[in-house]
Amino acid sequence: MKNTFGIINKIDKDNPYKCYKHSKYVNPSSIFILLLMGIAGTLILSAIYSYAIHHLPLKPLNIICTVLFGYLTGLFIGISGKIAKIRNPIILTIIGVVFGLFAVYSSWVIWLFELSQRQEWIFDLSAIFHTMQTISVNGVWSANSYTPTGFLLYIIWFVEATAILGTCVYASSTFIKKDAFCEKCNVWIDTKYVLPNLNHTSSNDKLRNLLHQGQFSALSDLEVQNQPSNLFTMVELSKCSKCNEIYLLTVKAVEIIKSSNGNFSRDETTIVQNMIIDDEIYDSIKSWGEKRA
Ligand SMILES: [Zn+2]
Repeated sequence: MKNTFGIINKIDKDNPYKCYKHSKYVNPSSIFILLLMGIAGTLILSAIYSYAIHHLPLKPLNIICTVLFGYLTGLFIGISGKIAKIRNPIILTIIGVVFGLFAVYSSWVIWLFELSQRQEWIFDLSAIFHTMQTISVNGVWSANSYTPTGFLLYIIWFVEATAILGTCVYASSTFIKKDAFCEKCNVWIDTKYVLPNLNHTSSNDKLRNLLHQGQFSALSDLEVQNQPSNLFTMVELSKCSKCNEIYLLTVKAVEIIKSSNGNFSRDETTIVQNMIIDDEIYDSIKSWGEKRA
């Protein structure tokens, strides 16, 4: 059914359009590659982190370093998992937990080595806890001429470890959330086309329902924005260019927010993520977008 705007509707009330889901397939050799890359990456990041927190004069900077360390470790796990073609977010979450804990452990080992003037390595967990006890008596660093000791120092260490673990798991578990994989070609789908920004929709739910029903002309009804605005609808098409058998549609409501200090941030609400469409719908949305660009 062709409409006057060029985007076709294909309505099938009994079979609403579904969104792509990861197959959860995991190849044992992929896990092996991921573990090897994870160990190497975590050790390098731990060394940089431990060196930085030991030598940085400003303690507030340490908090940024801690969050960055956990996040980068998780990001590295996510990237390694993607290279190893792991399309199972649960596995990436579990491996994120393992390497988050490993990151905390290895950063302690390297930090204690720095603290001992590079004289002594302590690998044993019980020996590390014993050293922590010794350190906590008099404290080890000061902020604003105050030196935290005892229980307070344990709380700081606990918060630090939780921050590293939490940011690591977050980054690794969400890394492939927006990606799609072609099982037939054994590749990640990377051919993408982004339409010019459309006007924002008055109701995300209504647009979502229309798209699931096959009313794709709801996109052309929004029309391309004439003037740039801080509110718009982003439409992205993707396909597997190897087999030309998988076609996907992503639609998001976007708001660009200017904060009081003049910085811009982007707030995205997903309307549909990787909805499975066919080549006709894909072509009609793309050619409509190209004509309106
Ligand atoms: Zn393919």
